[in-house]
Amino acid sequence: MSDSVKPGPHFLQLPGPTTTPLRMMEAIARPTINHRGPEFRALTVEVLEGIRTIFKTSGPVIIYPSSGTGAWEAALVNALSPGDAVLMYETGWFATLWCRLARKIGLEPELLAGDWRSPVDAEAIGARLREDKAHRIKAVCVVHNETSTGVTSDIAAVRRAIDAAGHPALLMADLVSSLASVDYRHDEWGVDVAVGGSQKGLMLPPGLSFNALSEKAIRAAETSRMARAYWDWAEMLDANRRGFFPYTPAINLLQGLRVAIEMLNEEGLDAVFARHRRAAAATRAAVARWGFETQCSDATAHSPVLTAVRMPEGVSADAVRDHALERCNMSLGNGLGQLDDRVFRIGHLGDFSEPLLLGTIAGIEAALGYAGVAHRRGGTEAAIAALSGTGMAGAADMA
Ligand code: PLP
Repeated sequence: MSDSVKPGPHFLQLPGPTTTPLRMMEAIARPTINHRGPEFRALTVEVLEGIRTIFKTSGPVIIYPSSGTGAWEAALVNALSPGDAVLMYETGWFATLWCRLARKIGLEPELLAGDWRSPVDAEAIGARLREDKAHRIKAVCVVHNETSTGVTSDIAAVRRAIDAAGHPALLMADLVSSLASVDYRHDEWGVDVAVGGSQKGLMLPPGLSFNALSEKAIRAAETSRMARAYWDWAEMLDANRRGFFPYTPAINLLQGLRVAIEMLNEEGLDAVFARHRRAAAATRAAVARWGFETQCSDATAHSPVLTAVRMPEGVSADAVRDHALERCNMSLGNGLGQLDDRVFRIGHLGDFSEPLLLGTIAGIEAALGYAGVAHRRGGTEAAIAALSGTGMAGAADMA
């Protein structure tokens, strides 16, 4: 047998893209249909209606054939005008990237400094908005689940801070790694534009992205002046009303999206969110047992979808990932930006079960050993104890 043959399934334990379930793959693999025919119109109507249940909105959700970055850009170019000030919060790498994108397209973003270990500080946002007496800031943009750090922020608190400051700025939220994995309520939380992607909680391959819109966002787009063509909400909404798209849509991914929505609603969103929270708690139990810190330093803000594990000084996180790949056929997320080689990220989102999670934890524990990283054994037992609700005591006894 060749060295490159790795029997058994690959463990794709990234915080996205995630594993696509067979039922969804089958739908995607079905023959491509006419995107201007009646069968496609029925599909469009169904997915546009269904995706609203995932965002918890009665307003429109735009679906683009693009990665999440496209939907980031779409949110900004539709609602804003050249030179507009935008307030952002530095939760980590993805907040920084969104900020860079805003600057590149001619906006004036201001990034409130964060430590890459904590959630958005809604009070700091409120304080900055109160200083902005002339209302130069047109939008507040925050990342719900910062995928580089494993920290989740309270979006409703940001809305309350904007309202308490009496400021008219739009609220934009990046849900790329939280959508369909972490509770999100577009209408109830008063978000104006939400940005999503297909390749994480929705369990689809990369290639679809989303903008969920409030009425205020749609009104802002009527007078905003950023140049836009491909991303134009107005053209998309007009075509969608007739059951179509203004250009060739990602037909096969939309066939998969129909199944994704079905599967999520069959399990029930609350059950999906609870499953993610349990997996995250079990993962943290393992990390604590090994004797490592999580990148998230705020116990109230741990992400349900991923855990970023800090390696001790002088230990390469990438060496652990390399061993996980070579010996365990498992992909773990790498450290991004300033966390390069400092953390590895464990994805526990999408289509996974408890045995899959435990296999992941056991694989990482093995990789730590192969990489010669000093750690306490018993992470897998700690995860089992957390999943079965027996806490850490039994696992500690076994040491
Ligand atoms: N925002 C967050 C929170 C992400 O995790 C990602 C990608 O991982 C993006 C935005 C960018 O999305 P994409 O890579 O699909 O363009």
